[in-house]
Amino acid sequence: MDKSVLIFYAIPVFFLLIIIEFIYGLIVKNNTYRINDTFVSISIGLISRFPVILNLGFNAFLFTLAATTFNLKLLPLDSWVTWVIAFLMYDLTYYIQHRLHHEIKILWATHVVHHHGEEYNLATALRQTSTGFLWKWMFYVPMMVVGIPAEVFATVGGINLLYQYWVHTEHIPKLGWMEKIFITPSNHRVHHAKNPEYIDANYGGVFIIWDRIFGTYIEEKDDIKPVYGTVKALNSWNPVWANFQVFYNMFLDSMRTKKLSDKFKVWYAPTYWRPSDVEEKYPSKPVDLKNKYNPFMSTSTKVFAAIQMLAMILISNSLFLNINSFSYEQIAIFGAILVVIPTITALLMQNSPFALLSVGTLNLAILIVCLSGLVPLQALATQFTLFTSLINIIFFVYQITFAGKYEEFKLSNIRS
Ligand SMILES: [Zn+2]
Repeated sequence: MDKSVLIFYAIPVFFLLIIIEFIYGLIVKNNTYRINDTFVSISIGLISRFPVILNLGFNAFLFTLAATTFNLKLLPLDSWVTWVIAFLMYDLTYYIQHRLHHEIKILWATHVVHHHGEEYNLATALRQTSTGFLWKWMFYVPMMVVGIPAEVFATVGGINLLYQYWVHTEHIPKLGWMEKIFITPSNHRVHHAKNPEYIDANYGGVFIIWDRIFGTYIEEKDDIKPVYGTVKALNSWNPVWANFQVFYNMFLDSMRTKKLSDKFKVWYAPTYWRPSDVEEKYPSKPVDLKNKYNPFMSTSTKVFAAIQMLAMILISNSLFLNINSFSYEQIAIFGAILVVIPTITALLMQNSPFALLSVGTLNLAILIVCLSGLVPLQALATQFTLFTSLINIIFFVYQITFAGKYEEFKLSNIRS
């Protein structure tokens, strides 16, 4: 079974559990959800499905290619030994690649997306990179050489990813003997914490035993509450920026440094390393353990964000449900729309002067795309998109007329 199929069927369960965790948090007076943070987590998760669907991932393709080209002797599909070897090998490989993604800059640039969240809840689990397809597959090459069949690889990979979902919660305490063997909410909280005492630990996917063997295990301590997020905070709600921030910073550093060798070293150095001349001129900010990124949101922005969140879920799921009836180009168009919608929302949530202008113009563009025949009008995904863009245009008109935001809108025009 394709990994993306497993994940697809899990999506309704993911959302149901998010709602349950949210309600539970309200009941026990420890709500771990904020609408802006949740919105970004969900939109980053939905966007990250597109590189996979557009076949930008190489895993399954390479497995089949390697097996047919090199005439690999595949392990038998119906033997439980194959599955056990595959499961353990996948998890060990996961540990190795995950650890390297935290230790080497260019790898960190793709994985960082999963760690930006300053809240820790089930929605945080959905924050998945959109650029992981670039090189993650390389780490799994030994599994091809051993002869793991592509189906087995995809299934154990899917199970590994699904397992990791439930550990993203603050509500489950330490779990006794399980802490010694498995990744649990407690030891994964440590992995997401930016406290100096917790940094760079607990890289396992399903098993914590790799961390214990290789010396990267840190236990959650009662007197040190994890503070979540990245040492260098993202300070943005923009899902596109989240995916490219570290790439951009590496590019800046390599342009700015005078030393030729450092221009290259920026890309493969340890994550925290920066060229000394650049660090001197543009020093990194110390880690902030007190403040969360949380710009003021008006009620209308909150309502707008909630509508966009619902719209994105409906559009993407109605698309995935009938994915075979769309052409490659049409899927790419929907992918672009599902990048534009959260980007506009991010501008509003950040009180950007360009927010209203973007809401008006980009939704008009989406409306034109829906009516132009580029995407099939009879498809449910198109109809949801059309409906969303209409609501957003009404929101825009309302804001600049009755809500008295015309001056703000005009100002944004002048500034732009
Ligand atoms: Zn990580």
